[in-house]
Amino acid sequence: MTNLTDLSLTDALKGLEAKQFSAVDMTKAHIAAVEKTRCLNAFITETPELALQQATASDARRASGKASVMDGIPIALKDLYCTKGVRTTAASKILENFVPTYESTVSQKLLDAGCITLGKVSHDEFGMGAANVNTPFGAVINPWTGADPEKSNRKLVPGGSSGGSAAVVAARAALAATGTDTGGSSRQPAALTGIVGMKPTYGRCSRFGVIAFASSLDQPGAMTRSVADMALMMRTMSGFDEKDSTSVDVAVPDYTSAIGNSIKGMKIGLPKEYRIDGLNAEVDAAWQKGASMLRDAGAEVIEVSLPHTKYALPVYYIIAPAEASSNLARYDGVRFGVRVPGENLNSMYENTRGAGFSKEVRRRILIGTYVLSAGYYDAYYLKAQKVRRCIRNDFDAALKKCDAILAPTAPSTAFGIGEKQDDPIQMYLEDVFTVSLNLAGLPGISVPIGLAENGLPLGLQLIGRAFDEMTLFKAASALEKEAKFTHKPPFTA
Ligand code: GLN
Repeated sequence: MTNLTDLSLTDALKGLEAKQFSAVDMTKAHIAAVEKTRCLNAFITETPELALQQATASDARRASGKASVMDGIPIALKDLYCTKGVRTTAASKILENFVPTYESTVSQKLLDAGCITLGKVSHDEFGMGAANVNTPFGAVINPWTGADPEKSNRKLVPGGSSGGSAAVVAARAALAATGTDTGGSSRQPAALTGIVGMKPTYGRCSRFGVIAFASSLDQPGAMTRSVADMALMMRTMSGFDEKDSTSVDVAVPDYTSAIGNSIKGMKIGLPKEYRIDGLNAEVDAAWQKGASMLRDAGAEVIEVSLPHTKYALPVYYIIAPAEASSNLARYDGVRFGVRVPGENLNSMYENTRGAGFSKEVRRRILIGTYVLSAGYYDAYYLKAQKVRRCIRNDFDAALKKCDAILAPTAPSTAFGIGEKQDDPIQMYLEDVFTVSLNLAGLPGISVPIGLAENGLPLGLQLIGRAFDEMTLFKAASALEKEAKFTHKPPFTA
């Protein structure tokens, strides 16, 4: 009997189409897998009854020849995606009991394509973090921790913010999951859990109904166990939406047709500025190995320069908190979620926001409010916006010389829960390789490349031109083929 939870999304679709198993079989196997992996603390809300209803409807569609492109595929949704009638918390106390009356465009597209939703998965509150530890719902555990994660005395983080999405896909509790990516949240957790993570071009996927963190950087993303599976997810999630004024009206190509194509003659750039001081030797070695794999597959590897790289992290940590402070002003205890009463209106605001937001979110609101305040706006926010343009110009120039850029995804392998937490800067450094392409609005995909000496996965990311995801899929699929990463975490469903 096939292990239904261990199939790729691509093979699961083939099996469903060939009627080797039904959507109900598929869903039941995944509901059991979700239960078996509860020790990872990945789900905030499980929706097994809803999943079974959707699966029954999916089987009926298939029986009458009306199945859609992703019919019967069980997935998990990051809890930043508003789901009609299903609690959506943003992993925050302030939205603990928020039940949206509408569905996000991206989750609606997945439902329309026939996907089954297993539930809502955890992440850092509002997407703020790189380890999935910043949430009142508790840290998520990386299935690479060990065969019995609960008993381990050094539980590893799955990365963040989309740590729940990464953990369930790696642990075989969902065939795929949505993430979001504001500064690396779909790519860095993928790297730390040995799976594929992608952020498309800004404007490719609708942000409608995705709870906002930093609107000019936020973009829906996904996590899967192969590049071909990612092509299927992205093909479904992408597309213009008139409900999001920043979504862009360009046709979405069939990404699956890029899988397995030759990359002969493709030019891959290695940015020299990414060889930062103190770059972990194993990460560097993996990066060079990845470059030679692409060379073996027929690509030409050249050096490129992104001179403003060193400003990316400081610029991100001005712009993201600035936008967050404005976006999060709406949680005032009046219209949404939790309210903590006070003697007057102001103290009600203070009590609500003090109790509803955890420490990291309050820190970002303070930083954001500061950099936007009169007298500091020009010095920080405006300056950061100018440097942001320089960062984009760097990429535009580099991507004239090459078709895609190859870089490490994360500066290290998965670390222990509680580590890097005393000093926020330590945690912010996790994003050193990922934030620049959010600032530039470009697409990126992280592919697992191998295991480090400590037995934990390492990933590399490919960065492409705006709306040229096809080239990324080609290069990523070639890299995946050469890397032959077939490792599974020691703990799976
Ligand atoms: N780790 C980054 C942050 O804390 C990025 C998070 C994200 O992409 N949502 O802001």
